Amino acid sequence: MLVDLHSHTTLCNHATGSLEEYVERAVALGIGEFGFSEHSPWMYQEREKLAPGFDEMPQYFQRVEAVQRRYMSRSRADRSSRIAIRLGIEMDYLPGKVDMAREYAQSNDFDFIIGSVHHIGTWGFDQESQQALYAQRDVREVYEEYFGLVIDMISTGLFDIVGHIDLVKKFGYRPKDGYRDLQESVVRVLRESDMAVELNTSGMDRPVKEFFPDQRFLALLYKYKIPVTLGSDAHAPSEVGRYFGEAVSQLKAVGYREVLTYEKRRRISVRL
Ligand SMILES: [Zn+2]
Ligand SMILES: [Zn+2]
Repeated sequence: MLVDLHSHTTLCNHATGSLEEYVERAVALGIGEFGFSEHSPWMYQEREKLAPGFDEMPQYFQRVEAVQRRYMSRSRADRSSRIAIRLGIEMDYLPGKVDMAREYAQSNDFDFIIGSVHHIGTWGFDQESQQALYAQRDVREVYEEYFGLVIDMISTGLFDIVGHIDLVKKFGYRPKDGYRDLQESVVRVLRESDMAVELNTSGMDRPVKEFFPDQRFLALLYKYKIPVTLGSDAHAPSEVGRYFGEAVSQLKAVGYREVLTYEKRRRISVRL
């Protein structure tokens, strides 16, 4: 079974389409479990409103509940379009907002929580408007800082899934001697955690033109038995399940036969 646990809605002000359109696309692709994972509201101030505000989150919950009622009802006559829809959130990891993240996770009924690093200090390194800074900085140092934050994020124990684990490569800047050592440090911390890593297929549409993580990194995750899940990071209905054929071949090629999905923060393993 295929799952897609990473998608956004118009409430983040940089996505298009209705929730029904996302779900319909998922059904058409034969995806069995679909998760919405809107950006966390503390990104609203951080990023010029590129996330819902706290006051908009109830609307997000209501919209997801509405599609759950519509597509998951037992009486649904058309079984071929039955799909499980999960309520998630992509929490932006900021060292100063860990208590807020904990509190928000506890006071809401999420099926799963993605933890993502989008900021190094105040630098939104994955934003096109801020990519010029890569050219002014030592790229190796940027990678060290980025993976340091990913490790801190994993160590909080607050999240279920590591979002786009090597997002720092998005614009194609890479340290000239690679960063295998940094990947290994992350994997060591992951082994001690309960987290899974998503194979985020959106990277194929970015300048780097490969998945987050790439196949070699994926093979390292498999070697250390780190569970994985799948996410398209769709910001439009047409992006749901993007490149999943290629994603499944890469997963199988390195050895994976199962992916995780979640219900009320509980893992469910499904066969690919
Ligand atoms: Zn987004
Ligand atoms: Zn993200």
